Amino acid sequence: MTSNSTTIGFVGLGNMGGPMAANLIKAGFAVKVFDLVPELVAGVSGAEGCSSAAQAAADVDVVISMLPAGRHVRSLYLGAEGEPGLLQAVRAETLIIDCSTIDAASARAVAEAAQQRGLQMLDAPVSGGTAGAEGGTLTFIVGGADDALERARPLLEAMGANIFHAGGAGAGQVAKICNNMLLAVLMSGTAEALALGVENGLDPAVLSEIMKVSSGGNWALNVYNPYPGVMDGVPASREYQGGFLVDLMRKDLGLALATAQDSGSSIPMGSLAHNLYQVHRQTHEAGGLDFSSIQWLFRPQLKDG
Ligand code: NAD
Repeated sequence: MTSNSTTIGFVGLGNMGGPMAANLIKAGFAVKVFDLVPELVAGVSGAEGCSSAAQAAADVDVVISMLPAGRHVRSLYLGAEGEPGLLQAVRAETLIIDCSTIDAASARAVAEAAQQRGLQMLDAPVSGGTAGAEGGTLTFIVGGADDALERARPLLEAMGANIFHAGGAGAGQVAKICNNMLLAVLMSGTAEALALGVENGLDPAVLSEIMKVSSGGNWALNVYNPYPGVMDGVPASREYQGGFLVDLMRKDLGLALATAQDSGSSIPMGSLAHNLYQVHRQTHEAGGLDFSSIQWLFRPQLKDG
């Protein structure tokens, strides 16, 4: 299954799934699509629109899902309210790839149920946001068996630029939330340091240049500076519109907390970041803003210009 004669059923055509399905079509794959929202089904040109997930998953080589959360993924594959899930509906040799960002426990539970049916399943959450989904430059962080990943590789390459194999089932989800937890901690710490400098008379651009090449240098400072007016082309320079939303970061930090709870790990920095984002969201109605807007929490004056 290495050519684009491979047929695909794609479920979940939101901000990420819609453009990902479009890139598969652009690469020449035959794609059947389904979403609960009929307009989204009609919006993927070149695809065969379906009226149910089961229809999209019937008689295809690969099923890909891109859904909001673990409960949606569980009910899609395992079934809900007496309805059978897709694991009962697909052909025996179908490969299943879930690209949603969900809790590792749900990913492992669905992968285990798939395995019991003799089906191969990968968790393959992505980073790169909607721009990466549209440009076909996503990073896939994959959990599952080597041979399943090799089957999936041509499809993932049509949607992304980087593919990492993190380990067995669920490992993709764990790696993704470890990264996003660290990102939240780095962004919060960077915003705090910049606010402290400004409140002590420093120019945030000068301070940023100093820290970038000093031991505090990090990704936020290098490419995603949270302080307005320091860097062109980042959300901070357009009142935090677009980018990676506070609500999605809160979701990922919640997944980090759930994972830590499961494994008995302590994540004091991640817990604090979760709380900071929660307070920021409530105080500044910031759920729909980019996550670098956490700068407002440390320097509220910026909000009023
Ligand atoms: P979205 O809400 O825009 O899209 C989700 C889609 O799934 C919706 O269109 C919804 O109608 C559909 N859906 C829900 N249940 C369904 C079902 N049972 N059958 C068919 N369709 C169903 O979300 P999104 O931004 O596309 O994100 C999808 C996933 O990707 C999430 O897990 C998110 O955390 C992750 N993610 C998002 C981004 C981003 O920047 N948006 C970046 C990386 C990862």
